[in-house]
Amino acid sequence: MRKNIVAGNWKMNKTYQDAQALVSEIDNMVKDEVSGDNVEVIVTPPFPFLHSISKLIQGNSRMHLAAQDVSAHESGAYTGEVSASMLKSVGVEYVLVGHSERRQYHNEDADLLLKKMKAALAQGIKPIFCCGEPLEVREADDHFKYVAQQLRETVAHLSNEEFDQIVIAYEPIWAIGTGRTASSAQAQEMHASIREELSRLFNAEAAYNKTILYGGSANPGNAKELFAQPDVDGGLIGGASLKSRDFTDIIKSF
Ligand code: PEP
Repeated sequence: MRKNIVAGNWKMNKTYQDAQALVSEIDNMVKDEVSGDNVEVIVTPPFPFLHSISKLIQGNSRMHLAAQDVSAHESGAYTGEVSASMLKSVGVEYVLVGHSERRQYHNEDADLLLKKMKAALAQGIKPIFCCGEPLEVREADDHFKYVAQQLRETVAHLSNEEFDQIVIAYEPIWAIGTGRTASSAQAQEMHASIREELSRLFNAEAAYNKTILYGGSANPGNAKELFAQPDVDGGLIGGASLKSRDFTDIIKSF
């Protein structure tokens, strides 16, 4: 059964105090306003806040914790890096891998992304694998091929068991933080194309059951229409996840 997820990516925002306040508000709003269990909520704060936020959301079974990055290495002399076992030890369940900002500003390539996914999976942490095309690729009408290639050079190298653990997030780069959202039709056709590719790489059942999130300027005004698409199973939310009201309204769009 395919799971619906709304995940907030806080990126490099908030102080410790602001982060505590934000997650308390989200936690309370989710408890008070979100009924049923058709959607899982994930928050993705910066590393220093993971431990305290893990404790804060402990009592709310709908709320889950993700990290924004993970080292490809197990442990040792890698100054500044954070390992999957460290994340696991503070209650992290998911980790973003392949976000376009990491690909662009930190030169993370397919080989590294695969190592990061494997390192996370070895600790029982589920990667949220981000893919998506830049504007020039969309304008050249090469976006389906581009995203399929991103899947083939990374996700395709996972075992069937590993694949079952991951979440996919389609994030067209031209829509991230730009206020320009993919239309629901554009999101749907790409999600369907991703699912087809996953079906070829793994099998039809595994592809059908895979949660595929949309990311890119999603907000309370467009979430309902995006989430109503048959192959859109939720969202990876940047800017709008920094406001408890907006984020909760997005969660309530299911
Ligand atoms: C993101 O960076 O994952 C994202 C979707 O950001 P925004 O919602 O701000 O476009």
